[in-house]
Amino acid sequence: MLALELYRSVPRYVAARMVGGRVPGLLAGPVAPLRLVNREEPVAPGQGWGRVRPRLSGICGSDLATLSGRASFYFSPLVSMPFVPGHEVAGELYDPIGDLPAGTRVVLEPVLSCTARGIDRCPQCAAGVTERCDRVTVGHVAPGLQTGYCADTGGGWGAMLVAHQSQLHPVPDSISDSRAVLVEPLACAIHAALRAEPEPGATVLVVGAGTVGMLTLLCLREFTGAGKVLVVAKHGRQRDLARDLGATEVVEPVDAVTALRRATHSYRLTPERGPAYLLGGADVAIDCVGSKASLDLVLRTTRSGGRVVLAGMPATGADLAPVWFRELEVTGAYAAGTEITANGAATTFDLALDLAAQAPLEGMVGAVYSLARWREALDHAFSAGRLGTIKVAFDPRL
Ligand SMILES: [Zn+2]
Repeated sequence: MLALELYRSVPRYVAARMVGGRVPGLLAGPVAPLRLVNREEPVAPGQGWGRVRPRLSGICGSDLATLSGRASFYFSPLVSMPFVPGHEVAGELYDPIGDLPAGTRVVLEPVLSCTARGIDRCPQCAAGVTERCDRVTVGHVAPGLQTGYCADTGGGWGAMLVAHQSQLHPVPDSISDSRAVLVEPLACAIHAALRAEPEPGATVLVVGAGTVGMLTLLCLREFTGAGKVLVVAKHGRQRDLARDLGATEVVEPVDAVTALRRATHSYRLTPERGPAYLLGGADVAIDCVGSKASLDLVLRTTRSGGRVVLAGMPATGADLAPVWFRELEVTGAYAAGTEITANGAATTFDLALDLAAQAPLEGMVGAVYSLARWREALDHAFSAGRLGTIKVAFDPRL
């Protein structure tokens, strides 16, 4: 089968990181740790597993960070190489799996937790918070925090993958493929909004207006009583969409501190070195970018005792002084599991499927590429914000 494979070893990664940077074209060029290969179909490793044929697979910010060598080395023991990337998958069953017949359209819940690995459930999995599973490196599947980072399972950027029945959610006919492929990012956004848990009327800062930022904004409005939501967006089309999705104010990064000072009647201070910051600021700030600049911004503009949520895979190097001085509560929002909402407990994916059926997601998948055009696809994804695209996806059937 045809698949894109991430094959480079860590030292070569570092080389990619040094020459990669953010220059469009270079990352998808000769230094990319990715190649298009014809490889064996993945084999179901045990009971409850079967083959899934991806119909649409998204390109995620964490994929781009991994490809450009910007991901932390922290993750290196949590993956197994070579792997087929792609964890945002809308597909169809090739084999019957559990009580789902072959041909069923499904979305993939990518976390490879205890149940999929055929081992006794760890305390986190037993409590339904599978994204916190402690056993993502053991069991009958190679190490991999998710499908799309595991050598044994295949991934969405290939013609076939294998998945465990616990990872599969059937998709109603009313949800198109281009909505279904957004269910995984939507689940992450629901999780981020509920981890942010703003008090009714609270002022919330959302930094970043790519897929994570836009969907997190949508979910703040859908699932929380957030008051003012100020969104930091770099590009014009992102700013328009953020207003449509319920942002109170949308600003460019350079104006963020001033806008937030005004919105929250705070004091602005300018240190001898480094960016300006506030005494006062947002009640809750959500970093949906994960760069050093975005991390510094959320840490420097959250009020004392406020909450900072890291919703994008974070970069290193931010200054933690405000965490100490402002007694900030810094928390992560990784993947999805079980949520407690006003209506009781529900899996995040069930909430995401409900939301995908009715949320204004039209046009969010802005470009679809064949696997063979992967260099163009990645160039497009790296420049998506500037080009006015939210999500770029592969259709491995093309
Ligand atoms: Zn577990």
